[in-house]
Order: sequence, then C-alpha cells, then structure tokens
Amino acid sequence: MPTESSAVTGRFAPSPSGRMHLGNLWSCLLAWLAARSAGGRMVLRLEDLDPDRCRPEYSDQVMRDLEWLGLDWDGEPVRQSLRTEFYASVFEKLRASGLLYPCFCTRAERLAASAPHRSDGLQVYGGRCRTLSPEQRVILARSRKPAWRVMVPDRTVSFRDLVQGPYEENLARDCGDFILRRSDGVFAYQLAVVADDAAMAVTQVVRGSDLLSSTPRQIWLQEQLGYPTPAYGHVPLLLAPDGRRLAKRDRDQELGQLQTRYTAPELVGHLAVAAGLLDAFQPVTPSQLLSRFSWARLPREDRTLSLA
Ligand code: GLU
Repeated sequence: MPTESSAVTGRFAPSPSGRMHLGNLWSCLLAWLAARSAGGRMVLRLEDLDPDRCRPEYSDQVMRDLEWLGLDWDGEPVRQSLRTEFYASVFEKLRASGLLYPCFCTRAERLAASAPHRSDGLQVYGGRCRTLSPEQRVILARSRKPAWRVMVPDRTVSFRDLVQGPYEENLARDCGDFILRRSDGVFAYQLAVVADDAAMAVTQVVRGSDLLSSTPRQIWLQEQLGYPTPAYGHVPLLLAPDGRRLAKRDRDQELGQLQTRYTAPELVGHLAVAAGLLDAFQPVTPSQLLSRFSWARLPREDRTLSLA
C-alpha cells in the first residue's frame, strides 16, 4: 500500500502561447494516465511567464481543451505570471549563495563565444562574463541590463528516466552556465519550473523528450535549493509524416481544427494506439485507458502521427 508521502503527484505544465496541438495533447494524456493510474493527484500549472508569447485567453482555452478531452486536475490552476515575487525569492537565495553572475553578452557575442552546437541545438556558453571583475561589471551595467547565469560545476548528473532509461550529462561540458533571468527581467523556464515543481509538491514529471536534456540542470538546481527530485518520464515526440516535430505552426494538427473532424474519444483513441495502449483504433475516454497504462508499453522512439 502506498503511504500518503509516497503518493504520486503529476502535473500538466502547458505554455499558453496558442492553441494546443496534437503533440501537447499526447504529453498531457500520458502525464494524466501516469498519475491517475497510480491513484495520484494531478495539478495544473500554466507556464505563461513570457509576456511576448502568452495571453490570458490562451490559458482559458488550454483549460477548456483539457476538459474537453476528459483530463481533469486537482485544486486551483497555478499561473506563473502571478508568481514573480516567489521566483525573485528563489533567485535571491541562489544569488546569496554566490552561484549567480550577471552576463552582459549580446546574442551575437554569446553565439561567437559558445562551443559548437550540440546535437539538440543548444549552445554551450563559454563563460565569457564569469570572470569579469566587479569594476568591469559596474562599467558594463551603465550601458546594458544583464541577464543572470548560474555557474555550473564540472559534474556529471545522472538519473534513470521512466521511459528513456539511464541518462546523464556533464553540466560544464554539455550545458554550461545557463540563464535564470533574462535581461528584460523575466525569470527563465529553468528557474520557474524547479521552484514550482517543488512548491506544488510534484513527485512525477511526465513531458516530451525534447526536455530530457533540461533535466540534469533541473536536478542540480533542486540540489542547490534543497528541494526533492521528482521521478521523470520523457515521452517520445509526435512527428509529422516528413519527420518534423509537430509544432504550433502545423495548423491542421491544432485542436481547434481537429475538433471539427474528431470527437474527443476518437482523438484519444488515435493517441492511445500511438502510445501502444490500444492494439487497434477505437474511440475511448482517458478513464477507459487507466487500467491499460504501463510504462513498459510506451514507445521510446518518436512516433509519426498526423491526423487527416
Ligand atoms: N511548458 C513546457 C511546454 O509546454 C513544458 C515544461 C515542462 O513540462 O517542464 O513545452
């Protein structure tokens, strides 16, 4: 019998920067099944920190879309845009421990000073501003607002992913000092996600495998802040037939379009076949899939799914 403290809390963490597309529905469905099939709680966090991309009406739409699909959550949704003071307090804690430094590099300088592209396109920052003297910082700050980076050690962080198996990265070599606050003052995803997963007592993070390489950074930040580390399951991505990742620009794979052609149980049925939870297509509700969910059934490789 799981004890109260070992019970699962999963989460949805959509970015409300437009209508959800098939790929978002897929990760939300799998996150919900993983938590609910374990008898766990599910919480909702709207990752609307970027004022240039997110709008309140998109957040409302995301909630309606989750409900339409048959995915529910517990408690009030958390909106990151309302939590700036909380992130500022976490940021100050890291700054007080001497882990942060201001980075005055422009985008062009950053690119010029970084290591070659990694396979996933991430640039490893070369550490140009790490060694600036206090005097240099004062002078640079007169003409430019800095971003803030966290100094990572030469350390390998490993974990066992529930879907992908063992994964590790060396922070200095594979990732480099990363940004926790942008030069326009907006707190970065890496800071907010770690602070919120801890504050919302999340114990199980299920999300797309495009975020697998963020996880070592997040685990290391959790350690610096004295937070527990949740379990992680990175589900494969849904690809368009030409091998590209489905993205918001694939308008025909957007929920608004899909809703004109499919009922919610039909969409869930197609996603369930792609996830290995149904052998043949049939319309189903998420609840009807609960007894079929198992980590072992999920594919590891990206899947092609594009609904006509
Ligand atoms: N907000 C992110 C997205 O929609 C997900 C972040 C996460 O799950 O950690 O891609």
